[in-house]
Amino acid sequence: MPYTLTDADRDAALSLAEAFRPGQRICLTTHVNPDGDGLGSEAGLAHLLRAEGYDVALTNPSPTPPRFRFLLDDLPGVDRTGEAVKELRRADLIIVLDISDLGRLGMLAETVRDRGVPVACIDHHVSPGSLPTGPRYLDPTAAATGELVFELAVANEWPLTEAAARGLYVALLTDTGGFRFSNTHPRTLRIAAELLEAGVDPEQIYLDVYARAPEGRPRLFAEALQTLVVEPEVGLAWVTVPPGAIERLGVSSDDLDGVVEFPRSIDGVRMALLFREVSQGRVKVSLRSVGSVDVAAFARRFGGGGHTKAAGLALPGSLAEVQGTVLTAARAYLSDDGRL
Ligand code: 5GP
Ligand code: MN
Repeated sequence: MPYTLTDADRDAALSLAEAFRPGQRICLTTHVNPDGDGLGSEAGLAHLLRAEGYDVALTNPSPTPPRFRFLLDDLPGVDRTGEAVKELRRADLIIVLDISDLGRLGMLAETVRDRGVPVACIDHHVSPGSLPTGPRYLDPTAAATGELVFELAVANEWPLTEAAARGLYVALLTDTGGFRFSNTHPRTLRIAAELLEAGVDPEQIYLDVYARAPEGRPRLFAEALQTLVVEPEVGLAWVTVPPGAIERLGVSSDDLDGVVEFPRSIDGVRMALLFREVSQGRVKVSLRSVGSVDVAAFARRFGGGGHTKAAGLALPGSLAEVQGTVLTAARAYLSDDGRL
């Protein structure tokens, strides 16, 4: 059965593509510390746009983590992240994927804000958005931005090659925690089925994304999990990355992916947190919830954001200070039933 779009989605997808003009230089970008959805959506869209004859570059605020580099193997020269600012200054159109907020573009925020070209956005976050104007394809009910890129291809009748499908499959796989989280909708699995029909090898993707980790990754997990604290009476559990562990073990922050699932997996826990010092005096907090607790609303109080069950924030201060502030607020939040 061919994948069907609602009339409203089809119209939105068609009008986004109407912004593209032949011969344009299109820069794709995503949030700092890009994940499988940001990078997979970019790789998928880069393949689709190149096949339609556009000049495409990836210009991200942070480098591609090693486990996602295979997505760019058959896109030689497309990743221009090393010269992102210079590339963005030459862009005729910028497409921001998997985020709607300028602030999450890190050191590229100013260039994107001031470039003066249309800034399109394809995203599934619940966010008011702060990007410069341009066409939008937004849907917070989508499990991954990759779903929205797939719909863009369907609406515009762009043929889905295996290489494009591979990027979109990585997007779906990673943002649904391997098709396990509550965002795994019938629509998600319908799209995944179409991606397999386009030739994606799910075992190969699993091996590339999850089974080629450096030895330091399980060692980092071991050190972080040693710090586990549980407050069963409030339903709170958290872990902390020991300062310097990432550098000492020769891994990257991407290698922390999944560690917060361990405090989350404890019976009775309603909110799980991961604390990590990202630079001297700045601490990043990853938040996960179980049941009806809305961690995106909690994160927004501190200038962060994300999804109802997976969100994040970053605050100035020492590890101890940020833990004090965030855990006190989390206890109060949970005693108010996890709603504002
Ligand atoms: P993670 O904890 O895996 O880094 O992120 C989980 C979710 O929260 C993702 O959807 C991500 O976009 C969002 N998120 C993480 N950190 C931040 C942040 O500092 N600000 C905002 N607005 N969202 C974040
Ligand atoms: Mn995403």
